[in-house]
Amino acid sequence: MTGQQARQAHQTIHAGGEWREAVTGATREILDPADALPFAVVAEGDEKDTDLAVAAAHRAFDGGQGQWPRTPVAERAALLRRVADLLTRDREKLGLLESRDAGKTVEEGRVDIDCVADAFRYFADLVAAEAPGRVVDAGSPDIHSVVVHEPVGVCALITPWNYPLLQASWKIAPALAAGNTFVVKPSEITPLTTIALIELLVEAGLPSGVANIVTGPGHSVGARLAEHPDVDLVSFTGGLVSGTKVAQAAAPSVKKVALELGGKNPNVVFADACATDEAFDTAVDQALNAAFIHSGQVCSAGARLIVEESIRDRFVAELARRASRIRLGRGTADGVECGPLVSEQQRAKVEAYVDSALKDGAVLRSGGKRPEPSPERPQNGYFYEPTLLDHCHREMAVVREEVFGPVLTVETFRTEDEAIALANDTEYGLAGAVWTADAGRARRVAGRLRHGTVWINDFHPYLPQAEWGGFGKSGVGRELGPAGLAEYRESKHVYQNLAPKPVRWFAG
Ligand code: NAD
Repeated sequence: MTGQQARQAHQTIHAGGEWREAVTGATREILDPADALPFAVVAEGDEKDTDLAVAAAHRAFDGGQGQWPRTPVAERAALLRRVADLLTRDREKLGLLESRDAGKTVEEGRVDIDCVADAFRYFADLVAAEAPGRVVDAGSPDIHSVVVHEPVGVCALITPWNYPLLQASWKIAPALAAGNTFVVKPSEITPLTTIALIELLVEAGLPSGVANIVTGPGHSVGARLAEHPDVDLVSFTGGLVSGTKVAQAAAPSVKKVALELGGKNPNVVFADACATDEAFDTAVDQALNAAFIHSGQVCSAGARLIVEESIRDRFVAELARRASRIRLGRGTADGVECGPLVSEQQRAKVEAYVDSALKDGAVLRSGGKRPEPSPERPQNGYFYEPTLLDHCHREMAVVREEVFGPVLTVETFRTEDEAIALANDTEYGLAGAVWTADAGRARRVAGRLRHGTVWINDFHPYLPQAEWGGFGKSGVGRELGPAGLAEYRESKHVYQNLAPKPVRWFAG
């Protein structure tokens, strides 16, 4: 069966080119976080569905149908570009779907889709421009030695709910560019755009069995993918706890493992960055954006403001004023700047962190509660006000742990060394920023920060051509950039002796 088959709403498992419901027939309702009402239904797959999908991906890689790994690079790149064009064609529809599924504003949803298309174009260009191998000088004219790259095989791609399609594309695009087949498992609460992407891959002409998806929970589908003996690589994006389980499950079969985990990201602001009113406004505005975009449900959220003591009062007062004016509401409503949290569970977690911080002595400057309902903020939506907590310190859980919500903590420093020590005082190491007008200081501080991305006088931008990933417990491996493609490859050294002779190591 090809992708032309009409898919029923709950047929969201795609294995071997066929859309199916779960083997058990189980389904799950997908809720709109703005009102907690179901607006879609998907198959609730389990281990059996996972095994079927892995078998399909395995056949498509190794079996008689295994044309994708051997498809010329130019054709693979052309397919990726077609996918990018289809994403652009469906930008409005997909942006809206992402907004309803994950709770973000429609504009954020649209930007996500643009970034997804960019990722496909980037990896298409990267493989298309590459040399097919690296000739190695073996020191003899009789030896021809070359290192080539080959696809790893069957890739299991496990993704989170905050940037559902973006995180999936950072895996799917390089996996396909390198010639792999894959099974993707989106978050069980936000699977809809990933399902739509599989439909676009089919429309673009990807052979059957190359792209497979199993919708379902982490403890069954995700865990089975991680341990499966026929999976050659597992690439996981999500929290530290699940990531650790994935690494443990993957270990017995010695598969390649890539982990993109959480962050507790410092935003360091020196007083000299705020010397003029304009500069002050920029630093405050960016600190607001760093912490509260997508209600802080961003792995690289600038959730720790580390500000020079001399400007703390003014900076915090202006931040609190701006934070309290952020318009919360349904992501599809006009004028809304921030959506709800993704689930009741996520909001309860945020509330617990704020409560514990206040008990530990933090001072609330804005937010700290659920907003009043309004026409654009239904009573049952998972809304929470942007929250600013002053006078925080490292012993507080809210400073050490990833809250993953609209909560910004404030710490202060007096010297450059103190600022760096605070910024590195985390078990994570995903991203961080330094704000200063002193170019030398900017380079010094950036050089000493133990984080995978460091912004100077900016926060949040990433480039598909630059590696993304973390130090410490923020993960293992990199996405994007040349290293993001290398994750999906094995290197093979082919050594050819053009004039073989006996070795005579053994005399007899
Ligand atoms: P999560 O760890 O709860 O879930 C992530 C995915 O793993 C989901 O698909 C889930 O079903 C699956 N899963 C859960 N348990 C599993 C198991 N035992 N085995 C296999 N799979 C399992 O994370 P989340 O709450 O969906 O996402 C938020 C987290 O993701 C945050 O910690 C955030 O920092 C992180 N994140 C990191 C990056 C990055 O680039 N480093 C990007 C986005 C999100």
